[in-house]
Amino acid sequence: MNIHEYQAKEILKGYGVRIQEGIVADTPEAAAAAAKKLNAETGTSWFVIKAQIHAGGRGKGKINETGSNGVVLAKSLDEVPTKAGNILGGTLVTHQTGAEGKKVNKVLIAQDVYYPGESDPKEYYVSILLDRAKGCNVIMASTEGGMDIEEVAEHTPDKIFKEWIDPKVGLQGFQARKVAFKLGLEGDAFKEMVKFITALYNAYLGTDSSMFEINPVLKTSDNKILAVDAKVNLDDNALYRHKDLAALRDLSEEDPLEVEAGESGLNYVKLDGNVGCMVNGAGLAMATMDIIKLSGGEPANFLDVGGGANAQTVEAGFRIILKDPNVKAILINVFGGIVRCDRIANGVVEAYKKIGDIKVPIIVRLQGTNAEEGARIIDESGLKVFSAVVLKDAALKVQEVLAAQA
Ligand code: GDP
Ligand code: MN
Repeated sequence: MNIHEYQAKEILKGYGVRIQEGIVADTPEAAAAAAKKLNAETGTSWFVIKAQIHAGGRGKGKINETGSNGVVLAKSLDEVPTKAGNILGGTLVTHQTGAEGKKVNKVLIAQDVYYPGESDPKEYYVSILLDRAKGCNVIMASTEGGMDIEEVAEHTPDKIFKEWIDPKVGLQGFQARKVAFKLGLEGDAFKEMVKFITALYNAYLGTDSSMFEINPVLKTSDNKILAVDAKVNLDDNALYRHKDLAALRDLSEEDPLEVEAGESGLNYVKLDGNVGCMVNGAGLAMATMDIIKLSGGEPANFLDVGGGANAQTVEAGFRIILKDPNVKAILINVFGGIVRCDRIANGVVEAYKKIGDIKVPIIVRLQGTNAEEGARIIDESGLKVFSAVVLKDAALKVQEVLAAQA
């Protein structure tokens, strides 16, 4: 699960990581009040206004409606409400959002930490993530902070270095010092960076995260090290033991169809293709997506209805797939092991009648217990549903209905 920058910074602060202080706001008036409060608390008179969306690249990104960037500087209290207003409610397009962009509902009003007149603010990159192949956590760090790290990795990979941490042993002092040393720091800045990395690692562990990425980490001219940005990826499988973190979920940032599917207990991932599919079991779902590709289509989604599929789950799955306007055909591929094929067939027919007015052709391939009976129910339903028992026939049928529409 992803969370917003302002939420991630709150977590970091709780673990003793120094951050660029800020207050979140959802109207220009609230933004002005936030700036006033920050001014009183920190003495800052310059502010950064930062769009809160679940995507990076905001600094270079643009708001469609106003042309404002997603991260802007305000050099007085007076500038804050107007500049915040140019971001709030707009659609921010960055290299990570895709062309459709993301609606901005909140901005973070933060203290400007690049002190006015600072000649050489030094930005670093620090992240901690799970290295699944090595079975270790890994700290990645670079002197090339503030830039797109993918680009650094591609063009100057030697400027990124890694320190692996055995989870059984934990982060050792020498490892944090090694990272600070490789970043070329000395004196107070070195000590600050060691503290920063140690606290960051504790935050990563304590929240059961799979990634913490701080880009940029800033060294100020008075040698403080602080997090200017924060991207956190919480492990969904651990959320049951972090109710407070689970509550940070922002459904408006997620695909509405995926949210709806989650509520029906379906495992759905939206994709960009034209053939919707509904399958029981993740492995069969992956194989079905391959079959769709082989038959000349592109999967519109991944949908695993699970082992206990019944009329309700089939109907819920149908409704979700049909809401995707790109879908030109639907392939239902169910193996009747625990669930019987005749029941699924009845579920399909029932759901079809209930939803009504389905324009896209549906191919149902049922295999396993009572497969023949299932096929008979589909064939005799009088609906525009085609049955198949052998997967190859189902694939050919998909090909045929796509060709008929081309
Ligand atoms: P991202 O573009 O989504 O990664 O958002 P960031 O939080 O990283 O901000 C983008 C850029 O804005 C940073 O790389 C900084 O160069 C700049 N920035 C962030 N905070 C400040 C600040 O306090 N003062 C100034 N002058 N620039 C800032
Ligand atoms: Mn950033």
